[in-house]
Amino acid sequence: MVLDPLFHKAIPILENLEQHGYQAYFVGGSVRDHLLGNSVKDIDIATSATPTEVQAIFSKVIPVGIEHGTVIVRHNKQSYEVTTFRKDGNYSDFRHPDEVFFVSKIDDDLSRRDFTINAMAMNKHGDIHDPFHGEQDIKRQLIRTVGLASDRFYEDPLRMLRALRFVSQLGFSIEQHTLESIKKQVNFVNELAVERLAVEFEKTIAGAYVTSAIPFYRDVNLWGQLPVFKEQPKLTTHVEALNQPLALLYEVFALLKIKQPELDLRQMIRLWKLSNNTYNAANKLVQLLSQYEQNGLNNWLIYQLPESLYVSFIRLIDVLHQENDITLMTIKDVASKLKITSISDVAFTGKDIINLYQNRNKGPWIQSYLNQIEKAIVTGELQNHFQDIKEWILSCHPPEKS
Ligand code: ATP
Ligand code: MG
Repeated sequence: MVLDPLFHKAIPILENLEQHGYQAYFVGGSVRDHLLGNSVKDIDIATSATPTEVQAIFSKVIPVGIEHGTVIVRHNKQSYEVTTFRKDGNYSDFRHPDEVFFVSKIDDDLSRRDFTINAMAMNKHGDIHDPFHGEQDIKRQLIRTVGLASDRFYEDPLRMLRALRFVSQLGFSIEQHTLESIKKQVNFVNELAVERLAVEFEKTIAGAYVTSAIPFYRDVNLWGQLPVFKEQPKLTTHVEALNQPLALLYEVFALLKIKQPELDLRQMIRLWKLSNNTYNAANKLVQLLSQYEQNGLNNWLIYQLPESLYVSFIRLIDVLHQENDITLMTIKDVASKLKITSISDVAFTGKDIINLYQNRNKGPWIQSYLNQIEKAIVTGELQNHFQDIKEWILSCHPPEKS
């Protein structure tokens, strides 16, 4: 099988490590994606060299997680995670292994990995080293733990969410023992840091096979372990009704708020420990989708929609309506014809307003007038010319006689 160009770019790193007497392989998701014939995203490398030894060999090394054996090697403007072969100790806090041991054999490193499809190594010639028969599971389209599922999920319950995430991304089935263990041990998910859950949940709702993955959330009662959903089980129906992937968590929370306006959006975002930016994005989407429901697509709506939310906005309309003919082109077309793109483009300032209404005290009315002008320009009611604006605002708000 032909190697993805991304592997070719990284081969010098394997060679360099080998020339210094160490073993080095491509591992993890990139090997899986290669065997699936999918495009490869980021490339992870495993080596017998310790982080200090890796640092001694390469000139540009960023020590991102030395205690876990991981450094980033920069090569030709690309970043590669290079991780020392390791085994994990106990996971007594369900978050991080208490200790990691560096080991000298690739097989030991592969044995700590979650699923057989993720536990293969590939050398620089493209030969696959596959002690847990991941290639066979790729052919059978099965997600199966490396080793005893109950042990592996006990060690790190996040693997249960990861299993469903891979169902969503790959459309695979879950091997029977693996699935039974998830059902039995799903409550351990409660112990995990919410931030870790959020990463896997987001990848799940974004998977091409999300409609295959989400029913498992009910079957194994994963919903019962997740913030917001465990407190309000009825909300799960909105995610279960998805007929296509979303991409980002703020799209999920916007969807929930639109479906159930009585929900406290800020509280939901807080329970998932997501950022203020996530809240702002969700909130904006909720407001603009509600404007869309009332008035359809118009200049004023698109003016308020940040470019970074165009795609999310369309995706949510797709999810909310059976028939939607709004595309990115439609939105970009409206946006490109807007007379102004922000309030700073308005040919009239706060000072101009103050000059017009000289015998009034300063106050929030100034901003309100500016906003009225802004909206009138965007909707096409008013030209963005100083004189037009002056006459318009005076006619809307005739000055009091002194
Ligand atoms: P993606 O394409 O989404 O990056 P990935 O398989 O590369 O998928 P990562 O989360 O980047 O997933 O992890 C890289 C590799 O590390 C995995 O393929 C797997 O071998 C191993 N791994 C990651 N998380 C765990 C875990 N919780 N337990 C065991 N092994 C894990
Ligand atoms: Mg990865």
